[in-house]
Amino acid sequence: MINYLHQEQNWQSQLSDLITDPLELLNLLELSIDQLLSGAILASEQFKLRVPRAFVGKMNIGDPLDPLLLQVLPHHLELEEHPEFVTDPLGEEAANQMAGVLHKYQSRFLLTLTGACAIHCRYCFRRHFPYQENLPRNDDWDNIKQYIEQNPLINEVILSGGDPLTLNNRKISLWLERLASLPQIKILRIHSRVPIVIPNRIDEELISILKNSRLRIVVVVHSNHAAELDDFTCSKLLQLSLHHITVLNQAVLLKGVNDSAKTLTELSNRLFDARVMPYYLHVLDKVKGAQHFDLRSSEIDHIYNDVLASLPGYLVPKLVREIAGEKNKTPLFGVQTF
Ligand SMILES: *Cc1c(COP(=O)(O)O)cnc(C)c1O
Ligand code: SF4
Repeated sequence: MINYLHQEQNWQSQLSDLITDPLELLNLLELSIDQLLSGAILASEQFKLRVPRAFVGKMNIGDPLDPLLLQVLPHHLELEEHPEFVTDPLGEEAANQMAGVLHKYQSRFLLTLTGACAIHCRYCFRRHFPYQENLPRNDDWDNIKQYIEQNPLINEVILSGGDPLTLNNRKISLWLERLASLPQIKILRIHSRVPIVIPNRIDEELISILKNSRLRIVVVVHSNHAAELDDFTCSKLLQLSLHHITVLNQAVLLKGVNDSAKTLTELSNRLFDARVMPYYLHVLDKVKGAQHFDLRSSEIDHIYNDVLASLPGYLVPKLVREIAGEKNKTPLFGVQTF
């Protein structure tokens, strides 16, 4: 019933009706407030709880270890200091070329048009990033255009975030037109978790904007667990590929959430049901406040070997780590020097 209602409700009203109070969340899931050990409320003040009701509808009632819940519930361990876990593990502040532009790799760069997300993932490596000082204003387009033209190797722009699909269709359409006006740009990529957490965001108007663009469109969604992919969500994702949009998934390997070969295999199989290809499996970035999701490298090795053995090669996501200063994401498996 709860899910049915979310399917009817438009995405804007879902986005303006997020759960931000940890006690309300626990109440809805019929969990005791003892789940919040002292410190968790303070953690939620530092990085606010934020979760759409449609996503909560996919959680198991009464299960304090639900893998979707663990991704969003503030945890007292977030406050623990750990020397390896820092506020800017990827050196993004240094790579910031101009408002909204994060250019680290040769052919493509991230364009951040909003700092807002529909959901706050506790492991997010951008949880400390100063977005609000860093967004392009409307008249910054000329500078961005100039930057692209001065870098002829750029052929792809990645709308990232924050989450670009929290923007309305008018704004998405405006930026698509701007980018499509530059002949050197061939591909427009959208990195978003919104199709997973508010599937209704994939509306007819958005599909029409994407499919009518000159640019080839790639949507990279972010799902960490098969339970996030109910039938309704899959039907929305399927809409994208039916309109010739390439849809990929990136996931983060998270202790307690998806740290088993069985869970990751189910995720890949479920994605494929929705014609979404697994792309990356990220090892956790060492961001302050996320240490309770970390796994030892021997554990990662073990899990990934089992995933390799249980799936066809095309459903195995690439295991990668982002290392500050590298020219690409760094593959962590099967790299040999001949
Ligand atoms: C991850 C990332 C990209 C995209 O990398 P791909 O390997 O092409 O998916 C681009 N720019 C930045 C700054 C990134 O962090
Ligand atoms: S940027 Fe992505 S991972 Fe980070 S909080 Fe937003 S939706 Fe979650």
